[in-house]
Amino acid sequence: AVLVGGPGTGKTRTLLRIFEDEAGKNGSEAWASVLLLTPDRRRATQLEKLLPADILGAVAKVGGHRLVRSINSYAYLVISEWMIGRKQPFPKPALVSGAEEDVWLAQWLADNGQVWDGIVPDAAKETEWFRTEIRELMSRVGEAGLNAEDLDSLGRWAGIPAWQAAARMYESFAGKDPFSVQTPHIDAARVQIIAARVLQEWQQKAEAESVLGILPIPTTVLVDDLQDCTVATAVLLQAMARLGTRVVATASPLSATASYRGGRADLGKEVASLCGIPMRNLTRYHRYRSDRAYSVSQAMAHALDPRTPPPASDPQRVGVFSSEGRLLLAISNEIRRRHFLDEVPWHRNAIIVRHSGQIETIRRALVRHGVPVAAAERPIKLSQIPVCAAILRVLYVDEDDSAANALELLTSPLVGADTLRLYAFIRSAAAIDESWGTLEYWLTQSHIPDELTEEHPVAASWLRSAAAIVAAGKAAATMSASDGLWAVWEATGKAEAWRETALSGADSGREADLRLDAVVALFRSADLWMQEEMAAGRASDAQTFAKELLGQVVERDSLAVRGMRAPGVEVLTVAQAAGREWDFVYIVGLQDGLWPASGTSGILMQMPKLRTLLDEARNVGVGAIDPQLVAADTQYATERREQTRSEAMLLVSAASRARLETKIMTVVDSEQALSSFVMLLKRKGVLTWDEVGDNNPVPHDPKIPFDLESFVALLRQRTMGGQYDADQQVEAARALAYLADSGVQSADPVTWIGAGELSSREPVGQGKPIGLSPSKLETASQCLLNWFFQSIQARRQQGVFAPAEVDSAQLGTLIHRVAEEAPHGTPEQLRSLLDQYWESDGTWLDKVQHEKALHMVSLLGDYFQRPVTRVEVEKEFRLEVGDATIYGRVDRLEHLEDGRMQVVDIKTGKTKPRPADVEENLQLAAYQLAMTDAENSAGAVYLSVGAPGRGQNPEFRQPTLDVQQREELQNTLADLSANMRGPDYRPTVCDACRYCDFRDVCPARKDS
Ligand code: SF4
Repeated sequence: AVLVGGPGTGKTRTLLRIFEDEAGKNGSEAWASVLLLTPDRRRATQLEKLLPADILGAVAKVGGHRLVRSINSYAYLVISEWMIGRKQPFPKPALVSGAEEDVWLAQWLADNGQVWDGIVPDAAKETEWFRTEIRELMSRVGEAGLNAEDLDSLGRWAGIPAWQAAARMYESFAGKDPFSVQTPHIDAARVQIIAARVLQEWQQKAEAESVLGILPIPTTVLVDDLQDCTVATAVLLQAMARLGTRVVATASPLSATASYRGGRADLGKEVASLCGIPMRNLTRYHRYRSDRAYSVSQAMAHALDPRTPPPASDPQRVGVFSSEGRLLLAISNEIRRRHFLDEVPWHRNAIIVRHSGQIETIRRALVRHGVPVAAAERPIKLSQIPVCAAILRVLYVDEDDSAANALELLTSPLVGADTLRLYAFIRSAAAIDESWGTLEYWLTQSHIPDELTEEHPVAASWLRSAAAIVAAGKAAATMSASDGLWAVWEATGKAEAWRETALSGADSGREADLRLDAVVALFRSADLWMQEEMAAGRASDAQTFAKELLGQVVERDSLAVRGMRAPGVEVLTVAQAAGREWDFVYIVGLQDGLWPASGTSGILMQMPKLRTLLDEARNVGVGAIDPQLVAADTQYATERREQTRSEAMLLVSAASRARLETKIMTVVDSEQALSSFVMLLKRKGVLTWDEVGDNNPVPHDPKIPFDLESFVALLRQRTMGGQYDADQQVEAARALAYLADSGVQSADPVTWIGAGELSSREPVGQGKPIGLSPSKLETASQCLLNWFFQSIQARRQQGVFAPAEVDSAQLGTLIHRVAEEAPHGTPEQLRSLLDQYWESDGTWLDKVQHEKALHMVSLLGDYFQRPVTRVEVEKEFRLEVGDATIYGRVDRLEHLEDGRMQVVDIKTGKTKPRPADVEENLQLAAYQLAMTDAENSAGAVYLSVGAPGRGQNPEFRQPTLDVQQREELQNTLADLSANMRGPDYRPTVCDACRYCDFRDVCPARKDS
């Protein structure tokens, strides 16, 4: 039977019981009495842990094979038995991994790229995005049981040249008959169909081919989570059923997690029909001990299928925070509090994210806040781990990026430099000799002059260490991958120090532990890579290894041995969490544009149309497909519908993993808004949060970390008085004394810093002209302290951005570039221009941003159709006010038909401005002042193309400034520039406080 039910209805438990019952029944004839299959290896490992060891041992002895495994692993076993279990064995076939397939595709495209001429631009042929599209297409075609000729025919009939070009690659990769055991490459997509064919032909051909082994099928096969399997699984199970195997499977059609990889949410129905077995519904939930655990999942399932019961619990509060850092602090605080006060073990908590790229950041933040994390047991991109990326960039030097690389190495764990001190060093060095004013320069020097070393001893020592690492990297580039890595690793001198810290058991030890794991994984990865390169007869130097790994597209399991570690909090993607359960689960990533993702994968290859045709081809054969179906445009609407459904099913799955509580944690700031799913759940009465005014969620940030240092800081603050009375002061002082006596060093006043005199009360930059950018005027006019902090932070972070900031900054740059190049472009022209850049530069930008960018340029294109006589773009200006110079460029200066001029500022940020604020906006006013005079000005336009909400007018106007307003503005700007010199930077509580990064240290706030 196929058991169908939602998450937590006991499907897996039922399979495990059947496994235990059947395990002892092995007849002497059968290959095995029972086999338990899962969609992937990770789930098989988890299920194996749930079975009693004696049963597993007995079963393993009977069959000689592991009988809890992934479906692909079983299919591969069938093929291997056929190939090697004979008198004269054939060589064992190799199963090609996704990473290996990607390397093969890159090489094929380098040799035969002309096949794609006229279909994609040359630059796109080298992108990982393009190879991913081809890999997806070849996988889906392979799973459907079609060969290259079929794909070519479909391409011809449907008039899609991309399919025909892909057919040529598919034939090279898989041969004319991709389902024969002789295919050049067996990949994960075809392995099950090849195995099905082997099983079908076994009895007929075994004798003639002198195959000695017995037919490798069990009496009973149990398959968990059919919703995450592909159509190939149905074909394999059908072949087994025809040979007499009893099939029992489970399916949860509304919580599929593999739709993006060809998974079929409704596969249960197909398996039941192909194998001739009934479907049974399970409706009672066993997992959840509280409504708070599954109301979100239940509501999403109800939205997907109204026949499922709606949730009946009270609305749950969503965690809303003003930055990702604060969100992670809040999660860490909760987990620590629960651990220390309620004795909940760390491993009963999990954090589930939408994208694997979020995992490392979260793991590192947890470790920093004193929360132990579980060892990572998942495929990884080593180049995303800072310590590995730093080593690889030393071995492979990209000259175009030398400044960023120098900073990355210095601030990486290998050196651990602080940008503020480096900046001070560079300033002093440049004052002596201008050519000394870059970090790259110092990384090529073996000697640092005494005067600089004496003034900046710490920065000098960092630069010396980094220079030694760079020198080692240069010498190691042509060594073998392992030797080269070793040379750089030795030059860092970190091995012993990290080992000692890791063994110390302190909080910092956990971080050292993780770094050492990453380095070991890197070495292991080099070993594997060298073996593969040698087998292929290619050179295997360290530089090539580093280049390949830095460009690694597909995550792969390093297979490295990791340190044994006590259980900790797990951070996983939805797919990795499938089939697991914890007491408390946090879901992170329900942000607009991120989840549901609005990606454009499959657009080039027209995957929705292909999927429709592949289904039809499986049913009636390629030659019998109705031509009307070929002509039907299934492209856009189907794509959107399928994608939203898949994303909703991911949320059903993620939100059904907790036994006690599922918590949704989100960020709302000037760039990030709540996901449409969160809004939907609010409308359904499942979620709630505090709001002000125009549906603006109010962030509730944690005040301080839940740890000893912060507690001491709190006591110190109380001791100093302020809002606390004398009794509270005394009480805090007593507590500090007690802690100091108990050995808590930070509580002892002798360790406190910050009691010295002010270093200077002189105004900043006295006697020198001050240069201002108009974009900062608004911040400075709202709150001078915020501006001051931001200026320091910008210097500290030159070149060091969080990934999300890079994305939004790069998206903004791209939109401005398109606007600059086509100042009169129509929406279509701008979209096409955007796509040109997207294909050539697009690899750095997440695909989910593409649709957003298309929407923005469409708004621009609509606006650009207004009548004007001339437009000047990116026009530079300088404006003298007081002793300051405001300089910059305006996006557009439009010359109108009545002879007046209008300034246009294009904004790509997510925050929608208030009309009243635009009228007062200092930046726009400064533009007017600089570019026009009172007579010829038509005012200014704030063109907000990035704010969410379709169909809204993006145009906000600032009226023309008259003569008097211009005079007042001159005075305001002069006063402002004078105030910017300090030395007092006063805080002003204002609208900006909501998203201000410095609230924790702001003296104007009670909670700082
Ligand atoms: S919290 Fe408000 S008052 Fe304090 S620095 Fe930030 S913007 Fe200024």
